[in-house]
Amino acid sequence: MSIVEKLSCDHCGAPISFEPGEIIATCKYCGFTVVIQTRTAFSFEHSMLLNRYDQTSIVSPIKNWMGSGFLKPPDLERKARLIDKSLTYVPFWIVMIDAETFYKGMFERITPSVVKEGQIRKRYNWLVLARKAAEFPTREYDLPLEGKIPYDFRKIEGFAKVFNSEVDKDEAVERAKQEIEGHHQHLAQQNVDKIIEFKSEMKISQTVYLHAPIWFVKYEYKGRAYQIFVDGASGMVIKGDIPPAKFGIF
Ligand SMILES: [Zn+2]
Repeated sequence: MSIVEKLSCDHCGAPISFEPGEIIATCKYCGFTVVIQTRTAFSFEHSMLLNRYDQTSIVSPIKNWMGSGFLKPPDLERKARLIDKSLTYVPFWIVMIDAETFYKGMFERITPSVVKEGQIRKRYNWLVLARKAAEFPTREYDLPLEGKIPYDFRKIEGFAKVFNSEVDKDEAVERAKQEIEGHHQHLAQQNVDKIIEFKSEMKISQTVYLHAPIWFVKYEYKGRAYQIFVDGASGMVIKGDIPPAKFGIF
């Protein structure tokens, strides 16, 4: 069991509860967002995406997902039983970065091998999950950024959970840079076989703290439990466990 601590909201006086390890907390009564350690107001952009589903309407995108795609058991949609559907506003950092990488390497797919160089220049809205322990397929989540609005606590449904952030801005920026560098390394390795020089430059244009409505869905199929993550803004299944389909004669 986790220990819940409290501080009182600077804006409305209500208690704001938070757990050890959380860094930024939001008051559920007025939406005031506070940096826990310094007890000061959070001074960066805090946004959210609107959830468009409820316990009933979320079933249809889930069923659609179950009934499509050739890798799934043909009776999945019919036989699967939804055992849990819960909406959680999950915190993310969106780090807007212009990244430029120069690389040089050996191209060994021809003989004799040659030195090749290249440049990768891209602009990213790089997503960093602001929770440490949570299992979430961040890289698979194509966050619908165009729906972003300023955080509004009145838009949070009574039945929804809101997670606080366990990652501060600097850590998020650092992580985004590292992940982008790794991504560029991967891209460079498609053009050269052995990297001998690799230099990246990153310019951060903006960092946004954002709560996204995610439906955590559990279903049961033939005696086993599986999980699905659904984007509550778009209804898209971000990722779902698929039971192994049986092939051959049965
Ligand atoms: Zn408050």
